[in-house]
Amino acid sequence: MLGVGLYDAESPIAVRLYLPARGVLDERVVGASIERAVRRRDGMFVDGVTTALRLCNGEGDRVPGLVIDRYADVAVVRTDGGAMDLWLERLVPSLKRVLAPRGIGTIVHRTTSSGPPLSGGAPEPSRKIRPLWGRAAPDTIDVLENRMTMEVDLAFGQKTGAFLDQRDNRARVRELCGGRAKVLNLFSYAGGFSLAAALGGASAVTSVDSASRAHACAQRSFRKNGLDPAAHAFVTADAFTFLDSAHARKERFDVVVSDPPSFAPNERSKKKALSAYRRLHRSCARVIAEQGVLCASSCSSHVSLEEFLETLDDATLERSHTTVRGAFGPPADHPTLPAFPEGRYLKFVVLGP
Ligand code: SAH
Repeated sequence: MLGVGLYDAESPIAVRLYLPARGVLDERVVGASIERAVRRRDGMFVDGVTTALRLCNGEGDRVPGLVIDRYADVAVVRTDGGAMDLWLERLVPSLKRVLAPRGIGTIVHRTTSSGPPLSGGAPEPSRKIRPLWGRAAPDTIDVLENRMTMEVDLAFGQKTGAFLDQRDNRARVRELCGGRAKVLNLFSYAGGFSLAAALGGASAVTSVDSASRAHACAQRSFRKNGLDPAAHAFVTADAFTFLDSAHARKERFDVVVSDPPSFAPNERSKKKALSAYRRLHRSCARVIAEQGVLCASSCSSHVSLEEFLETLDDATLERSHTTVRGAFGPPADHPTLPAFPEGRYLKFVVLGP
C-alpha cells in the first residue's frame, strides 16, 4: 500500500497522492490539508503592505492539484487536472469555513490553467472565472504588493490573475533600480517588474509583451501608483524581435529583466528550450550597458538552476566580466516538498559586472 490518491486518465500526472497510507480520502481529509495550508500563512503578511498571496500551493502544501491565490478579499481557486475539478463543489463548505473568517468574501474557480489569447486582434476572450461562493467577483481588482498597487485581471488574466511567485524578485528589482536610468522589462505582462523598477527610481522603463491587453492593465497600475505611463514605453512586440531592433539601433539599458513563459513544457523539449534561453540571453546582453545588470528568470521545471546558469555563461553573453550576484526562487508563501523537485521551478538570476 503506497497511499491513496486521485487518478486522472488525461493528465501527464496519473495519480496525485493525498494520503501516505491506507485510509479514506474524503472532503474532510482534503479540507484539513487546505486549512493547514491557510494557517501556514497566518501572520506572514501585513494588511496595508501586501494583500495578494498564495494561500495554498498545491503539492507544496500537500494538496496536489489545488492552488488558491488571495487577491484582497477574493480567493481564486485553480485546479490542475480533471480529478480535482470533480471534487471542487464538495470542498466549497471547507473553503468557506477556512477563508470567510480571514476576510474573504468571494471564492471563484479559475477554469483554465493557461491564459486565453490576449494578443490584439484576437476575438474577445470569455470570462475565465465562475463563482463558487459569496459576493460576485469583479473583473479586475487592486491589490498591494509591498505597498505597490497592482491591478489584477481576474476575469481574463493569466494563471489566477498575477504571478505572485515573483513578489520577492520584484522587490529585488525595485532595490537595484535605485539610481539607474533605463530599464527594459521583457515579457512584462501586467507590468509588475516595470512598476517595481519605476518606483525604485528608474527614469525610463520599457515594457515589452506580445499582449496589448496586458499593457493597458500595466498603464492603469502606473497611474494608480502616481507614475505617469507617458514617461515610459509599452511596446506590443515579440521580445526577440524587439531585442534585435534595439541592438540594431544601438539602444542600451542599465537593467534588463527577462521573465519568459516556460520554454520547456516537457522533458522532450528541454534541449530546444535551453537553446532558446541561450539565444534570449545573448540578445539581452547585447543591449545591456557596460556596467548594466541582467535579471534572467525561468519558470521551466524541467530546467535546473545549473542548466539555466549554463545559458548565462561568458561565451553565451559574449562578456568576460559578469558575475552571478544572486540566484533566487519563490517567496515563503510558495512552499515546496523535498521529494517534489518539480515544485522548485522558479529561477531568478541576477548578473552584474
Ligand atoms: N513578468 C511577469 C510575468 C510574465 S508571464 C510578471 O511579473 O507578472 C509571460 C508573458 O510573456 C505573458 O504576458 C505573455 O503574453 C508574454 N509573451 C509570451 N511570448 C512572448 C514573446 N515571444 N514576446 C513577448 N512577450 C511574450
